[in-house]
Amino acid sequence: MIGILQDFSKAELENLIAEMGEKKFRAAQLFEGLTQGKKVSEITSLSKSFKERLLEGYEDAPITIEQEYHSKDGTKKYLFRLADGHLIEGVLMKYKYGYTQCVSTQVGCRMGCKFCASTLGGLIRNLSAGEILAQITLVNALHKEEKSGDSKGARAVTNVVLMGSGEPLDNYDNVVKFLRLITAEEGFGMSARNISLSTCGIVPKMYALAEENLPVNLTVSLHATTDEERVRTMPIAKAYKIADVLKACENYFAKTGRRYYFEYTLIDGENCDEEHAKRLIDLLKGKPCHVNLIRLNEVKERSLSAATDKKAYRFLGMLEKGGLSATLRRQIGVDIGGACGQLRADYLQEK
Ligand code: SAH
Repeated sequence: MIGILQDFSKAELENLIAEMGEKKFRAAQLFEGLTQGKKVSEITSLSKSFKERLLEGYEDAPITIEQEYHSKDGTKKYLFRLADGHLIEGVLMKYKYGYTQCVSTQVGCRMGCKFCASTLGGLIRNLSAGEILAQITLVNALHKEEKSGDSKGARAVTNVVLMGSGEPLDNYDNVVKFLRLITAEEGFGMSARNISLSTCGIVPKMYALAEENLPVNLTVSLHATTDEERVRTMPIAKAYKIADVLKACENYFAKTGRRYYFEYTLIDGENCDEEHAKRLIDLLKGKPCHVNLIRLNEVKERSLSAATDKKAYRFLGMLEKGGLSATLRRQIGVDIGGACGQLRADYLQEK
């Protein structure tokens, strides 16, 4: 596979351009074009001969849009094709303040969570930092007419969540590099505070992330209140106990000052009865955290069922009464391909 220019920071591009014997300002023009989501061949400030030389060693674009789906509620889903032909997916959600984009960090996933479609075919490969970044620069460019009034005035995508396919902390180095690239002042310049990283709870990497000086919002997929119950839907629970996950969260708060979040998907008969609410309250009460309840998006390859709305609100009520900060996520984009990995799985099956 040939290289990906979006993997380079501005300083790294300057070195590359110097090695090619080109003037330094070419690196700035190239970096600016890539940050704007352009293909190399579309950057008009660069000479044709220079672009030809670049394209001998690097992809014109690391990803392209294969399919786009629009929901009645304004949510958009994208199926992207990578340069080597693999598919990944992403979601764009419209809020009052701007767009939040959900990005993938791996092709497939090896964590094996029972409710999740991303993991159906296992892990195929990690995404590079530039392949994660390019999902955002590409979609941002498509919406730049709708940019919000942020300080630079150039971004339509104001928030990013690492909640697409893949386990971000299983692709740690590339994900951290991506976080440095997207928060770089000379680049896209997004604040770490506007980025949420969701993990199934890979404890040693949670400690490592706390040391990176990248104060993103840390979100942990909990989905159960005892280790015995958690292991039924999440194999990672064999490796790390809930108590150790919670200690890693507390460390993250101590190091970054950022409160942390839990994702809790409501699965009927599994994790959303009164006993579970009581245990969740015991686990989390008084901690600087927030619980996001999610209705299960039923995956046809799996046998788990969603809790009814009535049960979901009852569970939320019990948590709130118990003193937890919690919300039930409103369901969006349900008419366009459901949960993590479902779009890609369906598309691959059709082909
Ligand atoms: N691997 C990371 C991030 C990706 S998933 C993690 O585990 O956190 C983002 C969230 O969606 C996770 O909380 C995941 O457990 C949840 N999720 C996955 N499939 C789902 C489904 N079918 N219905 C509801 N939530 C789901």
